[in-house]
Amino acid sequence: MLNLIIFGPPGAGKGTQSEKIIERYQLAHISTGDLLRAERNAGTELGNKANEFISKGELVPDEVVIGMVRNFMVSKSGVQGFIFDGFPRTIPQAEALDAMLMEFDTAISTVLGLEVVEDELVKRLMLRGQTSGRVDDQDEDTIRNRFREYQNKTLPLKDYYANQKKYQSVQGIGEIDEIFTNLCACIDAV
Ligand code: ADP
Repeated sequence: MLNLIIFGPPGAGKGTQSEKIIERYQLAHISTGDLLRAERNAGTELGNKANEFISKGELVPDEVVIGMVRNFMVSKSGVQGFIFDGFPRTIPQAEALDAMLMEFDTAISTVLGLEVVEDELVKRLMLRGQTSGRVDDQDEDTIRNRFREYQNKTLPLKDYYANQKKYQSVQGIGEIDEIFTNLCACIDAV
């Protein structure tokens, strides 16, 4: 199996690049942000609980997200691999993911880290907020809070995967297709 993590701060382009990657490599896309928003839109108990965190720009509790990912992976058994987008976002999530993949007799192949500076990210998110309808993209305080969460809880994953020799960094500013070409080169090198 080919199991990728697309890593980077909010607004780095993880969703955009994931769409292109799943098409080329025939992977199942798992975006915890999309799954959480679908739960919220369906008005489930999980979705309502998650929304309290999302609307403040805070991370949803690990056990909620991990359970959701597990269900999704089980429902997709038989695929050639996964691309994880927006997951893991904490060390406990990364440890849980390693354990789950081991149950499936597989592992993370590589982690693709999109590098984008914060000023550019805020610009992109505010712009997305005008069209996406996402409440967490419309308010600068909420956006800054998401960056704080990223710095404190998600950035340590860089070392976690670098220690496993699985972290590859890719410039995330430029043409979408050019970034995609660079990501493919990283994937093809594993
Ligand atoms: P972005 O990467 O632009 O922040 P996402 O759609 O990935 O957008 O996530 C939106 C929100 O959903 C996050 O700010 C967070 O509240 C919640 N969320 C998504 N994935 C996770 C996760 N793995 N762990 C905890 N919370 C998550």
